[in-house]
Amino acid sequence: MTNRQAARDIDTSRPHSARMYDYYLEGKDHFEVDKQAAEAVAVAYPGIFVCARENRAFMHRATRVLAREHGIRQWLDIGTGIPTEPNLHQVAQSVVPEARVVYADNDPLVLKYAERLMRSTRQGRTTYIEADVNDPQTLLDAPELGEILDTRQPVALSLNALMHFVTDDQDPYGIVERLLAVLPSGSALALSHCTPDFDPDTWAKVTDIYTGSGTPVRFRPQRDVARFFDGLDLLDPGITVGHRWRPDAVDGAAAGNAAPAPSDAEVSLW
Ligand code: SAH
Repeated sequence: MTNRQAARDIDTSRPHSARMYDYYLEGKDHFEVDKQAAEAVAVAYPGIFVCARENRAFMHRATRVLAREHGIRQWLDIGTGIPTEPNLHQVAQSVVPEARVVYADNDPLVLKYAERLMRSTRQGRTTYIEADVNDPQTLLDAPELGEILDTRQPVALSLNALMHFVTDDQDPYGIVERLLAVLPSGSALALSHCTPDFDPDTWAKVTDIYTGSGTPVRFRPQRDVARFFDGLDLLDPGITVGHRWRPDAVDGAAAGNAAPAPSDAEVSLW
């Protein structure tokens, strides 16, 4: 699909999750309809901006930890989102310049801006596939994936803030299992997922806003998020609230000026 075709597919009649997320991150790549839905979420759940920021920060830290401590050189990032610097490959390539990253998303606006995901280091490679996680086989069979990733070597599967858009009847655990099944030993799963655990009433409202505007969601409790990791060894500290997973060390001088730490309810993300 060309960029021009993608532009024709962009639907401004209803909000899209990628564009609402862009609004939460204070990006510029969303439409009025997304802003209105995102503001309705913010009325119900003012923590959404912190949640989005902490989600992104978790992705940065998880990527760095996998690159630095676990020898990961390749990533398959599904549900990439509208490019927001630093993107995953920039984080990975700042540690390992030869890192290779395959991005995938099903939103036409992400495709439109995908060239921003292709600014790889000379030593590394990146590509973008328009694909739906609900059809994992098509995604895995995409020729671009085979060109960039060597699936005989470890790959990190990155599913950040994605699986809550896969409802129970869409077989979320089967999908993750099928994706992991093609990856060799030494591979990794990095996953974040919004949760109602800290404030069920608020999250019931958020669920209604998304579902009511045409995006079905299933925010899951911790035990259901833990199921995605069944059969895998968890890195310390295990499944924890996003901002508590390997927080960056803050030095004494910086700590004085640092913003107050967010609460678990604001972050609401496993
Ligand atoms: N992973 C990024 C963006 C999260 S926003 C981050 O954590 O910062 C969720 C993204 O998932 C959006 O870009 C949305 O378009 C994408 N998405 C939602 N459902 C999807 C599906 N079925 N297949 C592929 N991508 C999907």
